[in-house]
Amino acid sequence: MATLGFTFGTMGSGKSTQALQIHHNLRARGLHTILTTQLDRSEGRVSSRLGVSADAEIVESATDLFELVRQRVKTIGRVDAVICDEAQFYDPAQCEQLARVVDELGVDVYAFGLLTTFQGVMFPGSARLMELADHRTEIQVEARCWCGERATHNARFVDGHQVVSGQMVVVGDTGGPTQGEVTYDLLCRAHWMEGARAARGSQLELLDEDEAREGDHPDRSGPIEVDPERVPTPLHVTANTPGAST
Ligand SMILES: [Zn+2]
Repeated sequence: MATLGFTFGTMGSGKSTQALQIHHNLRARGLHTILTTQLDRSEGRVSSRLGVSADAEIVESATDLFELVRQRVKTIGRVDAVICDEAQFYDPAQCEQLARVVDELGVDVYAFGLLTTFQGVMFPGSARLMELADHRTEIQVEARCWCGERATHNARFVDGHQVVSGQMVVVGDTGGPTQGEVTYDLLCRAHWMEGARAARGSQLELLDEDEAREGDHPDRSGPIEVDPERVPTPLHVTANTPGAST
């Protein structure tokens, strides 16, 4: 019985390393695997910080993962497993395609990704995988906040200041206006929230304190990317609409 597994962890928790390990182990036994990543890693490779890498197929937002696997089964006769790196960036509809790969093609899927964005809410793809997966596993590594507590939250910094607004994905060479140096770090929840409050405070400094406090929590009715031009797509629309995974 094939299964859909979602393994999640913070940055630097070894998700890519584990994806590569599974890929290697199955291939070493003569099994046919497909390794996918997202266009973030534009060279079409999955590489781990420990120095291992392998060729991967790039998943773009238009990629139909069910069709990709079905065509591969047609071409080479069988596919035993699909291993997905950077699955947090997959579209919720693509996560549903992965579930169909399991159920209709009988192929195991191992998906790896971050759970939450630098804004402290789930990536849409990760949320859908949590909903659909047969197994959900958190990678536990002893990452520490600067204060010594266990680091559990991804934070984005621009010129050293934590931010909670901006594009979900920052692509290096977009040619857009320079917004300062973007870096990431892991924090404990308390320090993540402290930084997030400070960031929201500087956005809301014209409002009085009570109003600013109301803005403490992420606004789930809106888009994850804080971009007023962008129309929000509530997750449940994708989740409950038949044929959404076209
Ligand atoms: Zn801390």
